[in-house]
Amino acid sequence: RKQEKLDLIAQRVRAIPDFPKKGILFRDICPILKDPGAVAAVIDLFEEYVRQTNLDIDLIVGLDARGFLFGPLLAQRLGVGFVLVRKKGKLPGPTVSVSYCLEYGKAELEIQEDAVSAGQKVMLIDDLLATGGTLAATCDLMTQKQATVLGCLVVIELKELKGAEKLGTHRLFSLLQY
Ligand code: AMP
Repeated sequence: RKQEKLDLIAQRVRAIPDFPKKGILFRDICPILKDPGAVAAVIDLFEEYVRQTNLDIDLIVGLDARGFLFGPLLAQRLGVGFVLVRKKGKLPGPTVSVSYCLEYGKAELEIQEDAVSAGQKVMLIDDLLATGGTLAATCDLMTQKQATVLGCLVVIELKELKGAEKLGTHRLFSLLQY
């Protein structure tokens, strides 16, 4: 059952060479979203993982932008809330931000100040882990808010970039590894 779900998800990931720039093999998850069975498989496997680990989650925290596609569905399944981490300048009201290094230059991520409170236990979610910079910065943001990061969930992990190492002690759960 589990392997069938993983196979279906793998069939719905499309590799597109040289996007957004030359040399990058982009893993496109849009075909997953076009297939409700594949979406259900993703959410089933995330849910199964979370329930197995017996983690007592308060919130699912999703990363801009493709973390927003799976995060709310998982949160709904688990009966918990969902919080958005956005690129700078998108969220109204008081925000808390973290800046982090990209390949070229810097970027900033934000959450609304009241989105997460001290002591809350959160699970982070995104479509893909590459260098891990984005998820690691989000972990920092959560720590700034004195929230506890229980782990990170991704559909795809690009193994050779060693993003999992950048997450330090935070555990990573990925459905597909390339
Ligand atoms: P990173 O911070 O390097 O782990 O990059 C993660 C973010 O960039 C994720 O939100 C992904 O959506 C996106 N990303 C990075 N590399 C790829 C790739 N090869 N294919 C698709 N998305 C990618």
